[in-house]
Amino acid sequence: MKNAAIVLAGGSGKRMRSDVKKQYLLIGGKPVLYYSLETFQKSSRIDEIILVCSHEDIEWCRETIVMPYGFTKVKKIVSGGKERHDSVFEGLKALENCTYVMIHDGARPFIDEEMLERIWSELPSVRACTVGMPVKDTIKLSDNLGFVEQTLPRERLWNIQTPQAFAYDLIRRAHELRAEGGLEMKITDDAMLIEYTEQIPVKLIEGSYENIKITTPEDLLYAEMIWKKRFGKLVKS
Ligand code: C5P
Repeated sequence: MKNAAIVLAGGSGKRMRSDVKKQYLLIGGKPVLYYSLETFQKSSRIDEIILVCSHEDIEWCRETIVMPYGFTKVKKIVSGGKERHDSVFEGLKALENCTYVMIHDGARPFIDEEMLERIWSELPSVRACTVGMPVKDTIKLSDNLGFVEQTLPRERLWNIQTPQAFAYDLIRRAHELRAEGGLEMKITDDAMLIEYTEQIPVKLIEGSYENIKITTPEDLLYAEMIWKKRFGKLVKS
């Protein structure tokens, strides 16, 4: 049995308005991408990591992140695709003999071992799950003219994060179906593919409000605060 993590770093990061892609910006002197790779490297549940990045970044990732930090579980660094789901598919294709796979946005640095354990405690029985957190705001659905169509019941709404974890065969089949043109809608995460292609429910698992995705400049400020809370004291002593 082999369990793997696919870490995605193939996005262009346009919303960050920075010359450096968001997954490579520094927090606490280390690239954003370093932190989740470190958590997967240390996890006894993960045997192998596939890192997905843009073709032109492969060597840079190898020489600046994977080699110097000793991420020996990173067995392959592969080129991503145009959309996030294309990058995930490339990661899935790079895996052989895999039982369970966790798919994670490299732009989310603050995952931790406890979160991975919560996932593993459910994964073998549910076969598809995602971390997330209950929403704090009221969420409304808009119509095409920018008016409120409906207020959604807050007590049932979750903000979805990554890692999302699946039985490998299940998520591979779902991506193959999508690649064959079997789905019309815009795919924003992998759990959604399971919802639309497979008749099994996706289990929601508690993530963390600190498990933010670094997308816009203000996220980086918040990330620095989280970093100080988690690691600041360690660095000083
Ligand atoms: O664009 P978004 O914020 O949804 O990206 C989520 C994650 O997916 C990021 O870590 C990004 O680098 C990755 N991604 C990718 N390939 C793409 C687009 C996004 O690996 N084509």
